[in-house]
Amino acid sequence: MSAALAPWLLPAWQRFVAALAEDRLGHGLLLAGEPGLGKRALAAAMVARLLCERAGGAEAACGACRGCAWRLAGSHPDLHLLAPEEDAKAIKVAQVRALIARLQLTGQASSTRIALVDPADAMNAASQNALLKTLEEPSPGVVLLLVSDGPGRLLATVRSRCQVLSVTRPAPALVAGWLAGQGVQAPDLALALAAGHPGAALAYAGAERAGQARAVADDLLALAGGRAQPLAVAQRWTAAPVQRVDDAIAWLRLWSWHGRGQPQPGPPPPPRPLASLVDSQAAAVQLRERLAAPLRPAWLLLEWLERWRRAA
Ligand SMILES: [Zn+2]
Repeated sequence: MSAALAPWLLPAWQRFVAALAEDRLGHGLLLAGEPGLGKRALAAAMVARLLCERAGGAEAACGACRGCAWRLAGSHPDLHLLAPEEDAKAIKVAQVRALIARLQLTGQASSTRIALVDPADAMNAASQNALLKTLEEPSPGVVLLLVSDGPGRLLATVRSRCQVLSVTRPAPALVAGWLAGQGVQAPDLALALAAGHPGAALAYAGAERAGQARAVADDLLALAGGRAQPLAVAQRWTAAPVQRVDDAIAWLRLWSWHGRGQPQPGPPPPPRPLASLVDSQAAAVQLRERLAAPLRPAWLLLEWLERWRRAA
């Protein structure tokens, strides 16, 4: 299974299997890193390895033993998932207490019992405190695997009781090779729009997402050239305002690099001073934050688009 992991996940995977092989794996593991890097694939490989009854040393799960068969059928009795309940954002303290009660029972099929907490930062302070005692004094064989895009939102007491496996953004060359392996023919523009982020680059390489991003560039160029009205553009963007603004930020970043004498793939920037492009990008980043609270998205979009049209 590790063969299928993206190359930038392999250092964390190797640290995990080395700790496992040397019997120094912690009871609490925190898999941390920004979104879109493949943490869930790595977590799945780790869970599989822990539940496999045949794999040894640095091997990945065999995929064929009884433990693997149960896991693949989605019915392994010693794998417990903790996530927000439907329509809820937070993992509630009652869910954590129920999980702890289940973990205290002896393993039904194996000596290892796993709780996969994902996203771990969905636990509020009360939920994290409820989990703390299990992190401090786990029953033998219990492994708590916490997956988090924002480990800074976890209590320091929780973080400090976990072995941290960090996944970091890989070098662009590594991502380019991986994208080629995913069938992406010309990854340059997708990689540039995604600032080298593999998950985002893969999305931008898809025809639909690429078309949406291109439409945003066309809107920005039309506004800058006086060929479009902010209100009409705002109306187009309102269906997915956060994604459109992400695209706008990506183009403005590329155009700023272009303005610094580093040509980038995609349409060239409108004839504006570099400082103006940088200001518009900073304002777009602020707009992105304000859109996180989805009040008046159309009005916020319009305000920024009016500024972009006027800026020079
Ligand atoms: Zn197996």
